[in-house]
Amino acid sequence: MRRKRSIKILATLGPATSEEDRIAELFEAGADVFRINMSHTPHKLLKSLHGRLRAVEARFGRPIGILCDLQGPKLRIGTFSGDGADLVEGDTFVLDTRDTPGDGKRVYLPHPPVFEAAEEGHRLLLDDGRIRLRVVTAARNRLECVVEVGGKLTARKGVSLPDTLLPFGAMTDKDRADLDAALNLGVDWVALSFVQRPDDLAEARKMTRGRAAIMAKIEKPQAVQRLDEIIEMADGLMVARGDLGVEMPLEAVPGVQKRITRAGRRAGKPVVVATQMLESMISAPVPTRAEVSDVATAVFEGADAIMLSAESAVGDFPVEAVATMNRIAERVETDANFASIINAQRADPEATGPDAISAAARTVSDTLKLPAIVCYTSSGATGLRAARERPDRPIIALSPNPATSRRLALVWGLHCVLTEDAHDENDMVDRACRIAQQEGFAKPGQRIIVTAGVPFGTPGATNMLRIAFVGDAGTY
Ligand code: PGA
Ligand code: MN
Repeated sequence: MRRKRSIKILATLGPATSEEDRIAELFEAGADVFRINMSHTPHKLLKSLHGRLRAVEARFGRPIGILCDLQGPKLRIGTFSGDGADLVEGDTFVLDTRDTPGDGKRVYLPHPPVFEAAEEGHRLLLDDGRIRLRVVTAARNRLECVVEVGGKLTARKGVSLPDTLLPFGAMTDKDRADLDAALNLGVDWVALSFVQRPDDLAEARKMTRGRAAIMAKIEKPQAVQRLDEIIEMADGLMVARGDLGVEMPLEAVPGVQKRITRAGRRAGKPVVVATQMLESMISAPVPTRAEVSDVATAVFEGADAIMLSAESAVGDFPVEAVATMNRIAERVETDANFASIINAQRADPEATGPDAISAAARTVSDTLKLPAIVCYTSSGATGLRAARERPDRPIIALSPNPATSRRLALVWGLHCVLTEDAHDENDMVDRACRIAQQEGFAKPGQRIIVTAGVPFGTPGATNMLRIAFVGDAGTY
């Protein structure tokens, strides 16, 4: 089974899509990678979902990526003795360290480090930014605030502090336990929420020890400021527009999305554009024009993947949402302007063998109008560099390593196939041609490009490029 697009689709699983047959339907409709959101998934369910995903993978014989999304240090206020507080503009409201139900004047904030870091003049955004407070007096045990935008505040609502560098990392005790469970099952990607600084990735890196790739969710202004350093520490990025849109003015988000997408592509690390892409499809079978345009923008920009959250997790039309993304992506990628927009953003190859070979593969396939590029990649590094070139034809990434195939399922343009390493040069060419044909990318009589590293079995040594004839099926 092959996709007819280069961008990938990432679908979040949830109550609407927990059963194996539903997951299979999402896969058939176009989902390449599945997100398990640990904010809503107990360990027992994580285990079931993981098992079902691997069963679907076996059913279709295609590598499927699993992304485990850790909740991170999401701040929430405590409870109220009544049904909440009505905050009125200009009034004073206090957040403090007293673990008792709140009232119209105060509420408990169960995160002591916030009191050390927040300063006079900093903003507190509550309930997805609907309510805005500003600190007037900051003390060790209480933040006295003035209400700038009022509204009804109820128990356990989220709190964002866009002006404050919070003195804790991106992992909580819950995240550590969740990550441990996920690594024991075997997931392919781990996403860290509310990353603020490059160091925030170090602990996850230590825990994963290469067993999963690490994605930094960019959802805080502090992370945007240090984007380049964070990219260096991460294996991939998510433009997490939900929280980003709370912490920054909404109108700043599209520009940040472009910046992150371009920076990721330049670095050769996959970027996922996430949140509210087809929001109205939670309850309607067709999207709005604006949503279609939003998905198309991410495709034109050359993002690696587009994500569905509630649309696929709890919506009434999860399969339709995936199918809609699939259709938009297919159409945009054949648009007359698509190739030139993608080409305009190409970054020069770096001075390495894999980059030089990947760039050459693209120009040779362009010049000869060849139907596919086949690259042998055992660690996945060469697959990433081949995708970074954004060639105008599909890349078949061959790997003997299931973990590599699953990780690369998230990456632009890569059709991953699990196969043994080639035994010698003849086998390398034969195997590449056979798979290109079997997977529906080339016909007998056509030529394809094959890249590999010889001698075989030395990772990271891509050093050759062949133009190979695809023979009749009987030849192999
Ligand atoms: P979330 O992350 O769905 O875990 O909040 C995505 C976002 O904030 O956009
Ligand atoms: Mn978020």
